Amino acid sequence: MPASALRLVLGDQLDRDAAHLRDVDADRDIIVMAEVADEALRPGYHRARSAMFLAAMRHMRDDLRERGLRVDYVALDDDGPRSLPAALSDAISRHAPQRVVMLRPGRHDLLASLTRVCADADVPLERVADDHFLCSVDGFAGWAEGRKLLRMEDFYRWMRRRHGILLEDGEPVGGLWNFDHDNRAGFGRSGPGEVPTPPALEPTRHQRDVAAMLDARSTDLLGETDLRWPVTPEAAQTWLDAFIDQRLPRFGRFQDAMWTDEAWLWHAHLSAAINLRLLHPREVIDRAVLAYQRGHAPIAAVEGFVRQILGWREYVRGIYWLRGPDQAFDNALGATAPLPPAFWSGTTHMRCMSQVVQQLLRHGYAHHIQRLMVAGLLAQLWGSAPREVHEWFMALYVDSIEWVTMPNVLGMSQYADGGRLGSKPYIASGKYVQRQSNYCDGCRYDPAVDIGDQACPFTTLYWDFLARHRERFADHPRMALQVKNLDRRDAERARAVAERVARLRELAAEGAL
Ligand code: FAD
Ligand code: SF4
Repeated sequence: MPASALRLVLGDQLDRDAAHLRDVDADRDIIVMAEVADEALRPGYHRARSAMFLAAMRHMRDDLRERGLRVDYVALDDDGPRSLPAALSDAISRHAPQRVVMLRPGRHDLLASLTRVCADADVPLERVADDHFLCSVDGFAGWAEGRKLLRMEDFYRWMRRRHGILLEDGEPVGGLWNFDHDNRAGFGRSGPGEVPTPPALEPTRHQRDVAAMLDARSTDLLGETDLRWPVTPEAAQTWLDAFIDQRLPRFGRFQDAMWTDEAWLWHAHLSAAINLRLLHPREVIDRAVLAYQRGHAPIAAVEGFVRQILGWREYVRGIYWLRGPDQAFDNALGATAPLPPAFWSGTTHMRCMSQVVQQLLRHGYAHHIQRLMVAGLLAQLWGSAPREVHEWFMALYVDSIEWVTMPNVLGMSQYADGGRLGSKPYIASGKYVQRQSNYCDGCRYDPAVDIGDQACPFTTLYWDFLARHRERFADHPRMALQVKNLDRRDAERARAVAERVARLRELAAEGAL
């Protein structure tokens, strides 16, 4: 009997209560899930990321089958379809459904190609409104309409009011909308002290199987198969509990701080679980707000955390869909340089970069400031091609999905959108890294020095970046001061910086940066 509906579940749509599964007909509908090589075996992508996605999908399949639902699950196989559109096309041929039902996928190209498959097969496609996010794509477009500037802070306040979060008589709890000024502390010379690590759960059967399969099948994936990442809703709950109990009270305060050999610090480590939909963002926010109401965590920590999820996360998603596929080609600063090989190997004398990349290769995780103010900053100052930078961020992080990675990389980190998302480029010299971490202790380079062999590459490249983009930023309200400082430097120094930059590019090519 032909299926009534094929319900497509993609690897990042593992919500057991997903909107397009709520009215499933257990007798006549078929749920389609597929592991495909183009996604799971992408050369240069992180093993831990692929292992997490595949194991999480297999657990979802088992849970759906236990509920008596019919799941057509295509496991990764040499003879199987290589891509998701091919998998959908095969499933349509197998089941001859009356319609295909799906949620919006996490990338423009996939939305277009899956839509095309249904049109080519002449099967109606029904796209169900997705309530995993707290602001719909249309809702964001409505908010954006008529606004000259799409400021995250404005969106965030609008979302707080709309959802009634951390409000008292219509006013923000604690008297302020934003407690960011409390959130810039470094650790001081004594370091972060004892920091609780995320819960170490025993790997599941699917995690072990998938890890072995990836080891046997692919030599092109990078990094270690860290199996710590939650792959079931229960494991994700355990991580959420641990965050709320152990780290939320200190969240925010040390948000911008980094420390040698400390990968986890006071962050939530929940992005992958939320992006896979093992946790609902509303549930995560409610837990944090409850912790405040019970006196477990201060308002600055809770507001800071809520802002990340209700504000930034929803905002970048809105921007991604509002901007459309063209965003992938943004390159406002005309950057074309290839990324230094150290981004992939972690082999570099720059202690901060080697720390971040080694940590990434081990776990597939780096926190926000490591992304923005170490890796992203170096790529930006280096003049790296934004699309290559985006691909690097997609490849090495367990939580990467295009809708969230692209606006963060091209907009926030690389200023490739010319300032639509952030009003100015996040640029700094090595002194920023020195202030926020202990990475510079024992580094071959000196963050205070801009020329010569000891010069910190960030510091040299900072002046070089300003010189290269002087005209663009000379009258920029938030950059003019930095350009003025550049103009105060003498011509001899400018020449020495240019020479040092040329040398840095040679060193990078030799793998000796
Ligand atoms: P925490 O710092 O503890 O924050 C709590 C939660 O807030 C996160 O779990 C996440 O869900 C949300 N959040 C915070 N900031 C952002 C943001 N800017 N955008 C979206 N969500 C946010 N996040 C991803 O989920 N996937 C990515 O591929 C990704 N790429 C990034 C690339 C760059 C260059 C930058 C600057 C940021 C990127 N981010 C990305 C955002 C952010 O860095 C991560 O969400 C965060 O570091 C994940 O770690 P955590 O769960 O410990 O987060
Ligand atoms: Fe990084 Fe420069 Fe500090 Fe070395 S001196 S750790 S390269 S910021």
